[in-house]
Amino acid sequence: MSTACIACQPPLTIAPAQVLRGRGVVNQVGNAIAHLGQHPLVIGGNQTLAAIRPQLQTVLEHEPLQIAWMTYGADCSETTLATLHQAIDLHRADVVIGIGGGKAIDTAKLVAHQHHLPIVTVPTSAATCAAWTALSNVYTDQGAFQYDVALTRCPDLLVLDYDVVQTAPRRTLIAGIGDAIAKWYEASVSSGHVQQTLIIAAVQQARVLRDLLFQTSAIALQEPGGEAWQEVVDATVLMAGVIGGLGGAQCRTVAAHAVHNGLTHLLDSHGTLHGEKVAYGILVQLRLEEIVQGNQLAATARQQLLKFYGDIGLPKSLNDLGLADIALTDLQRAAVIACAEQSDIHRLPFAVEPAQLMAAMVSTTAASTTAASTRREEAGVNDFSRSQGSAFTPHSLNDEVMA
Ligand SMILES: [Zn+2]
Repeated sequence: MSTACIACQPPLTIAPAQVLRGRGVVNQVGNAIAHLGQHPLVIGGNQTLAAIRPQLQTVLEHEPLQIAWMTYGADCSETTLATLHQAIDLHRADVVIGIGGGKAIDTAKLVAHQHHLPIVTVPTSAATCAAWTALSNVYTDQGAFQYDVALTRCPDLLVLDYDVVQTAPRRTLIAGIGDAIAKWYEASVSSGHVQQTLIIAAVQQARVLRDLLFQTSAIALQEPGGEAWQEVVDATVLMAGVIGGLGGAQCRTVAAHAVHNGLTHLLDSHGTLHGEKVAYGILVQLRLEEIVQGNQLAATARQQLLKFYGDIGLPKSLNDLGLADIALTDLQRAAVIACAEQSDIHRLPFAVEPAQLMAAMVSTTAASTTAASTRREEAGVNDFSRSQGSAFTPHSLNDEVMA
């Protein structure tokens, strides 16, 4: 028996040390924060801080805390981070509290990580699982994706207050659903063949998460604040985070997020949320599998997703993303960035050229094409069935749920 593999594994960053959740739970965080530090620096967006500061200030006044408040600016960019580093030093902060959506929380997590400080996250929407994960995305000041940073641990405390999340626009939850279902479509491709226990667990949980969202999302959106709504919030903020934590660096994003990253370089895409672009990216990924591989299961999955997107209001095309008039050169620029050498798109089991990606990007709503694909499936040349065995093919599982 060898222990060599264990020694070379990266550290696990599976979950926050503590998760407080419930209605009005923000009113109870004073003591938990005081345990982490006495000089909190609160980081959030302008509007978020304006909305939540009076409530949080009252809560924290009951503790012997010296609090400073900072807005994070437009994005989690290196300029923003430099400003916040100064604020940390000036305030002699010993704990960071990140409040807001994904960008605010990513900024706060990264600043805390770089100063080796404890971090508390308070998501104000269910648009991403950023409040859970040990990962921050860094963008330019103009909002173009640059790189991500793996953090040494998940937050010390996550505060999920459903009253706070319920004040967010409906659209943020829809985007969160798009980002969460991407876990399955990407993890099954990047890691579906891996035999490691925790990665198998992550991939299977991603399938469960997708099924749960297929079944519950429409009901949840009809009744904000209701039981189903709360379960869907748990799914997008917490369970999506669990999957990222369990899967770790080996259970990575693939084409859906690569397409998102490419699109962020187009200014016209900035009116749409992360999860909306990612949801569209899933369709592009499936379309690529269909065009390049002749994968009929991907074609079926895409048609099923188009129906699901229609039911809940996720974007199905460039048109829906507000990019109907995109110039060919811009589309090409996004595709070239998405196909850059280090891009996760190359985790697909086949090579992708920008021209193929462009073809997929403009045809996400097309009727299924491949006539030869059925024969290919029957011959067992589908990469998923080859890696998973016939009982475990990513896209065929859609049939069970969507039928
Ligand atoms: Zn995402």
